[in-house]
Parts: sequence; C-alpha cells; structure tokens
Amino acid sequence: MSKTIIAVQNLHKKYGNFEAVKGISFNVLEGEIFGLLGPNGAGKSTTLEIIETLREKTSGTITVDGFDLDKDPNEIKKCIGVQLQTSGYYPGLSLTELIGLFAGLYNKNVDAAELLAKVNLQDKAKAKYKELSGGQKQRFSIATTLINEPKIIFLDEPTTGLDPQARRNLWELILDIRKKGTTVIITTHYMDEAEILCDRVAIIDSGKIIALESPDKLIDNLVATGFERPKEVKKANLEDVFIHLTGHTLREEA
Ligand code: ADP
Ligand code: MG
Repeated sequence: MSKTIIAVQNLHKKYGNFEAVKGISFNVLEGEIFGLLGPNGAGKSTTLEIIETLREKTSGTITVDGFDLDKDPNEIKKCIGVQLQTSGYYPGLSLTELIGLFAGLYNKNVDAAELLAKVNLQDKAKAKYKELSGGQKQRFSIATTLINEPKIIFLDEPTTGLDPQARRNLWELILDIRKKGTTVIITTHYMDEAEILCDRVAIIDSGKIIALESPDKLIDNLVATGFERPKEVKKANLEDVFIHLTGHTLREEA
C-alpha cells in the first residue's frame, strides 16, 4: 500500500459570500497520478492553488508530505512543483535563461540542457518562450516544475488547446515523470486523457466531490446500474482517424 502524501480534510473556500469549495476531503497517494475532474467553475483550480500555498483557504486542514499547510507552508513549497500560467514567463528570455532564473529562485544548480532534453526541447535552448508552439510551451512549463526536484507536481489543464499529437506527447511526458516516482495531480476536461493517465479521479461539481475512484471502477459502477451507451460503439473514433491520417509526429508550428 502506498502512503498518503496529500491529505485534504473538510476544505472550504469562500469568495465573499460565494462558497466555491464546500467541505471536500480526499487523499492523494505517493506515486499516483490523481485527477481532479469537473465542469468549469467546479472549484478545481481553487483547490489546487490552496494546496500549492498560493491561495488562502477559509477552513479545513491540509497536510502535504507530512507538513501542515498552516504551520509549514515553506516546507510544502520546497517539495512541490507548480506549473505557472503562461503569462508568468518573461517572453523575451531564452529557455536557458528562464531556467537559470527559476533555478536561482530555488537556489538550485540546474543543468538547463539536461532539463530541456527531458521534455524534448533540447533544440530550443536558445529560443524565446514567445517563439514556442502551444505544445512546446506546455512542455517547457512542465520542465520548470521539475527544477526543484519536487515530490509532487501540480498540472492544471496542461493539455487544453493542444492538437492530438501534442496531447499524446504530453501524456508520455507525464507518465515518464510519474515512473520516476513523482506524484502528479492533474486537472483536465478530456475524459479519454483522465482514463489513460489517472490512477484515481475525484469528480467535483459545484464545490463538492461527487465521486472518487479509479476510472475503471467508476465505469464499472455505471455499467452495473444498467447504463448502456445509446449507440453501438465503433471500434475507432474520429480522433483515431485523425491520428491515423496525420501520424504521431509532433507539429511544432505555433
Ligand atoms: P475550476 O478550476 O473548477 O474551473 P475555479 O476554482 O477556478 O474552478 O473557480 C470556482 C468558482 O470560484 C467559480 O465560480 C469562480 O468564478 C469562482 N472564483 C474563482 N476565483 C475567484 C476569485 N478570485 N474571486 C471570486 N470568485 C472566484
Ligand atoms: Mg480551473
């Protein structure tokens, strides 16, 4: 049995009178890929940012790697990697310079070339952030989460807006990061992606967790209620056609 690395208990978050998170509890296990799923406005980003120490909670308790969020937020910051929104990067700096900047913030010595190679951007070391395609930007921002060699990384909709090739490429990267023992928390609106990547998912709706299980178990539970898809399922879908026709090779035109 894996041990719990994140424990969230009875978390509430109010923005003024509006309660965005309504008393949610969940544990994330060490080494798993844990998905937070839910419609826009469900409270996913709020929850992540509270755990990341970037947003104040209203009430509830959170521990990350044994550290209490209220008592040791700085210890938590040290062991997590957070993907910045794209606007967080100086657009005019090269990738190598940006990595240097982040490494300085973390007080770490980082081999920029090696880090860029991990996310398949070795050829872009001198390129500026603003010159990257959408998929490259996402890969770069994932690279920056790895600078402090975190135990846990947080990815908030890392594949939104990417083409199918870039999305698959990012899945491989995320699986690769997990294979090295890093715990991953991810949000996504793509259910195929959650099914492929996540060991367990929490489905959040209007600030409450309405299901928490492995994707496989959730599907089995639904089928057990007698649910059937309205239409006979074909052996392929349009995305399979797209990938079959256009191949897996990454297209990096922005
Ligand atoms: P999700 O990431 O699931 O789409 P969010 O956590 O971003 O949802 O938002 C949850 C709810 O809280 C939404 O209704 C959103 O409008 C609201 N909200 C988010 N941030 C703020 C804020 N800074 N001030 C007021 N309301 C906010
Ligand atoms: Mg969000």
